[in-house]
Amino acid sequence: MIRVLFAAADHRWTEYAPHLRRAFDAAGLNIELSREHPAESVDYIVYAPNSDVTDFSVFPNLKAVVCLWAGVEDVVGNPTLTVPLTRMVDPGLTEGMVEYVTGHVLRYHLGIDRTLQSQHGHWDRHIPPLARHRRVGVLGLGALGGAVARALSALNFDVHGWARRPKSIEGVTCHCETRGLADVLGSSDIVVLLLPATAETHGLINSERLALMPNGARILNPGRGTLVDDRALLAALDSGHIAHATLDVFQQEPLPPEHPYWAHPRVTVTPHIAAETRPETASEVIAENIRRAEVGAQLLHLVDRVAGY
Ligand code: NAP
Repeated sequence: MIRVLFAAADHRWTEYAPHLRRAFDAAGLNIELSREHPAESVDYIVYAPNSDVTDFSVFPNLKAVVCLWAGVEDVVGNPTLTVPLTRMVDPGLTEGMVEYVTGHVLRYHLGIDRTLQSQHGHWDRHIPPLARHRRVGVLGLGALGGAVARALSALNFDVHGWARRPKSIEGVTCHCETRGLADVLGSSDIVVLLLPATAETHGLINSERLALMPNGARILNPGRGTLVDDRALLAALDSGHIAHATLDVFQQEPLPPEHPYWAHPRVTVTPHIAAETRPETASEVIAENIRRAEVGAQLLHLVDRVAGY
């Protein structure tokens, strides 16, 4: 019998338990899933970083921690965690992110806000360029950024991407390193941030990098709030250098009611809804990883504890 502890916010239990049990059965795993196993009996933890569990050293027989979230910045540096940690790569989560980003990129590209605000009886013909003449930069080409870049390329956008290591993605011009970042920022009408929160990416979008962007560029941040220097972005929005930003993630969440982003005419705030882990598909990924761990196979989506993602 394998014992799996479910450590996540209360409401997640009812969402996940039936899907996890079905996925464990389908994978041929004999698993007792609970929120209350005695610590010494726990083999695996299905984990959300906002759960009560912060000290993993109380689980002496723990084999791995399977995170329900794609972003692991709140757990990756936990010194009590000495077993493998996996992050969530879920087809449902990816699909959601592709829909969010393509929706907002098309909104910017077609000038939909302008159309909605121009219902005043004036025959104001605003013809957008074709997508092939619109450059979109995607910072981060991992599970989510890679899928987003492919989807935008399939819509004919001129997609340039940036990652830490060299990449090859059909239809996407890939860049890396500092020089590559300047090239992407310097030429993109719309920039999508899909980097993880790490020490290296903290405050990446600062005043110098914003200044590299073309006048009137737009920013979409469904990655993490720490990627953006908020003061610098607000200044660039105030001056009009950055024409608009759609922000889904923030340094502090929920975004406080008095935060200047809420009332800024050039900002759209969405409340961290770009992409959600979907219990049905995520449960299959979790079951597959526990199956792998049990037979000594390489786990999927292992977190690199040094790189921090
Ligand atoms: P991932 O697969 O780990 O991909 C991360 C990408 O960022 C990789 O391409 C990586 O480069 C690149 N990267 C990391 N550090 C870098 C650096 N210092 N310089 C340049 N590139 C760097 O992550 P993912 O699954 O795509 O998720 C990305 C982020 O999205 C998550 O960390 C999370 O914060 C966020 N997220 C947000 C929501 C939401 O609802 N808003 C939902 C899910 C996830 P390499 O390919 O070279 O490693």
